[in-house]
Amino acid sequence: MSATEGPDVAAQIDVIHGRIAAAATAADRDPASVTLLLATKTMPAEVILTALRSGSTLIGENRVQEITEKADALAAVPHTTHLIGHLQRNKVGAVLPFIDCLQSLDSADLATRFERRLAEHEPDRVLQVMVQVNVSGEASKSGVAPEDAAELIAAVRDCPHLRLTGLMTIGLNSPDESAVRQGYASLRQLRDELVPGGELSMGMSGDLEAAIAEGATIVRVGSAVFGRRS
Ligand SMILES: *Cc1c(COP(=O)(O)O)cnc(C)c1O
Repeated sequence: MSATEGPDVAAQIDVIHGRIAAAATAADRDPASVTLLLATKTMPAEVILTALRSGSTLIGENRVQEITEKADALAAVPHTTHLIGHLQRNKVGAVLPFIDCLQSLDSADLATRFERRLAEHEPDRVLQVMVQVNVSGEASKSGVAPEDAAELIAAVRDCPHLRLTGLMTIGLNSPDESAVRQGYASLRQLRDELVPGGELSMGMSGDLEAAIAEGATIVRVGSAVFGRRS
């Protein structure tokens, strides 16, 4: 499918900004306190470029191979790239040149690998990281258990080349909105205790309103902008 046959990306982004503004207003929050991250997995570079040219600045990718393959084409438009998918330990060196933030940090071992790599190869660089927490407890989801978050955060704070900017979670996949919100509320509570003032990356196409109601500062939206992934 060519880019022109897909959804009108710029128009869909406008729709999402409208949803963000409405949800923020309903929660007595400033709409500008919520940043839209476009989850671009499986999308070709030309589609992502359309989004960037229409004013988006933040994208999230899940796989190292996709990040590296699209990097050259996307370099034409300034933007920020976050890794939002689980990272294998042996890919640390491959992904580092291409990311501004690792949202999916889920182990002290991974933190140590980033720290060592940066200390050795780029001693002047500090990488932003967010700790991914599995608030729903679903076995299919990455992230540390809530009760293990403090220990991982302490490990990150021992790494001079990493800067903890907040917490991230993938919400419960359920039509039960109150259960979804409960998970987001628990991430917010952890953030307040462990990373006061830090970012809260939570909420996707289907549940960004619930996430914003619970304090999300970054929502990660894919299918509502780009259409269903094949
Ligand atoms: C794909 C993805 C999203 C976006 O999901 P949609 O339902 O398509 O909006 C958000 N976060 C992560 C980690 C993802 O992998």
